Amino acid sequence: MSETFFVTTALPYANGPFHIGHIMEYIQADIWVRFERMQGRRVHFVGADDAHGAPIMLKAEAEHVSPEALVARIAAGRGRYLEGFHIGFDHWHSTHSSENTALSQDIYRRLKAAGLIHCKPIEQFFDPVKGMFLADRYIKGECPKCHARDQYGDACEVCGSVYAPTELIEPYSALTGAKPVLKTSEHFFFRLSDPRCVEFLQEWLAVAGHVQPQVANKAREWLSGKGEQALGDWDISRDAPYFGIPIPDAPGKFFYVWLDAPIGYLAALKSYFDSGKARANGETRSFEAFLGAPDMRQVHFIGKDIIYFHTLFWPAMLHFAGAPYRAPDNVHVHGFITVSGEKMSKSRGTGISPLRYLELGMNPEWLRYYIAAKLNATVEDLDFNPADFIARINSDLIGKYVNIASRAASFITRHFDGMLEYPCGTEELTQRARELLEQVRSSYAAREFGRAMREIMAFADRLNQEFDARQPWVLAKDPARREALQDSCARALYGFKTLTCLLAPVLPAVAERVARELFGLDRALTFADALVPPRRINPYQHLMTRVDPKLLDALLDPQEKTVSDTGSPAAPKPPAATVAAIDAPATISIDQFKQIDLRVARIAAAEQVAGADKLLRLTLDLGSETRTVFAGIKSAYDPATLVGRLTVMVANLAPRKMKFGVSEGMVLAASGPEGGPFLLTPDAGAAPGMRIS
Ligand SMILES: [Zn+2]
Repeated sequence: MSETFFVTTALPYANGPFHIGHIMEYIQADIWVRFERMQGRRVHFVGADDAHGAPIMLKAEAEHVSPEALVARIAAGRGRYLEGFHIGFDHWHSTHSSENTALSQDIYRRLKAAGLIHCKPIEQFFDPVKGMFLADRYIKGECPKCHARDQYGDACEVCGSVYAPTELIEPYSALTGAKPVLKTSEHFFFRLSDPRCVEFLQEWLAVAGHVQPQVANKAREWLSGKGEQALGDWDISRDAPYFGIPIPDAPGKFFYVWLDAPIGYLAALKSYFDSGKARANGETRSFEAFLGAPDMRQVHFIGKDIIYFHTLFWPAMLHFAGAPYRAPDNVHVHGFITVSGEKMSKSRGTGISPLRYLELGMNPEWLRYYIAAKLNATVEDLDFNPADFIARINSDLIGKYVNIASRAASFITRHFDGMLEYPCGTEELTQRARELLEQVRSSYAAREFGRAMREIMAFADRLNQEFDARQPWVLAKDPARREALQDSCARALYGFKTLTCLLAPVLPAVAERVARELFGLDRALTFADALVPPRRINPYQHLMTRVDPKLLDALLDPQEKTVSDTGSPAAPKPPAATVAAIDAPATISIDQFKQIDLRVARIAAAEQVAGADKLLRLTLDLGSETRTVFAGIKSAYDPATLVGRLTVMVANLAPRKMKFGVSEGMVLAASGPEGGPFLLTPDAGAAPGMRIS
């Protein structure tokens, strides 16, 4: 039976706009959804705002608006981010909805009937100044496990422990600073420690694919904790005043926001079904029938900070609520995004502002590609590094991918009126396209997007090398070699079509334009198109510009941060040089070394620079592109002797504006007390563009 996917991302809290971490998660999920659709699967991709809880209630109070009005205002701002980054949720809803109230109360009643809910009086912190029980997030103090200071009352951001606020050392009210007093109140608990729950979760975690192995290990640690680490029952109620869903038959009691937030996934799905959009997307069953259907696969993309809720409470709640509810099929966990190695902070609003990215006119597909190129299936953090970003976009997307079409198409348009012929046949070309397609599909399916991008770019390298080797610009001058010219360009354009199909989940707008403008198709590309040789093309139209390093400077300038986006300007960072001087490591990891893109380059031209004492201007041929580099080697080399020789360059060094022009990299040379500089040269056989590792 063909599977139908129900896919969600974690629900963002509706007290502020999206940050870059949200956008990264949505891009990851969106790429996967587009990939599944391209291979013919039906996918329902929904999201919602997480609208309940004390932070929203108190923020609304401070702004003298209702919580509903606050949530509506935040929700109204979501579209420009989602559209801006081509993130294609089928439906966007809210946990503050009639669907979520009905589903949360239904699941609660079922859990109660199953004997998994109990009540007991607990002592809870009360702010005597504010006159209310303090939600966990409004109590701060020292973590009882790792002793980190200023941690919130429910979980430690440093060690990841989850605990009761009364366990905090030296607690204080984050609202008023007052020392909270203990008051007794009746609370409702979900019996997570019940042997039935523990047994079920052990089984669920043991099924390959439900969660990644490292996530299962973490969840098992919590599950099998002893003594102080033992798994506790989960406090699911809060006392009025609280912005949330009332607990049935319990006046003045509300569900804790973390109970109704994941149920919001189902509420969003129900609202999507009720709106008729599911039917428009080919789903003829009712919401209830779909939810319980054996072909339905429930897939969540989440960050590693909310593993506890999604791998313990959520599967247990769904399983013990009974049909049509059932535990998720996949919980895919990703790491955090860091910027130049610094961890982002939601509260401090540092990092990259996604809205500013869009406002600067930066291409959203640059970011989609960059994130794809760095993502894998583990929970490792992903670092946004500006120099690496520029290098990857300019060298991969422009230098390798776009370059193929821009060069080959012009010959076909000029000399053959857009018609493609394959005098040497297409069988071998289709065979290698098929091999690539299978490779890349399995990488996408495994969420190894970085591997998929590397496979795609290796193929692009091969196409560029073949194209260059046949020197079509020479063939074009000889009327007797028209057939060879057409063959070499047609091969390149067939390859470009294959690449475009494979990149379509990551670059949906580019793929749409290529399909329509270049290949004249009136529909979206599918993976089947990757194996169909194009027979005619329209004139090539400019597809994508290079990244201007100035844009990255503007994006990362803390003084220039969009105020409407972050709510408040970020504190300026210490100068990078100071940090580097203090933290300069004696050794680097292999991953750090791999960040340096070393390439074999042929010196195509070398010239004196008027007014420069030490510099020569080198034109370096990297196979698929050329770079201008100013090198301080004038004292040791006569420019005329350099032309034609091979050397080694750093290809992903951020371009540097110098007095005489922009230097787009660096050549490597040795020097010491004995003299120099001495340029490096690879052994015979090395060719321009080869990667050095
Ligand atoms: Zn801790």
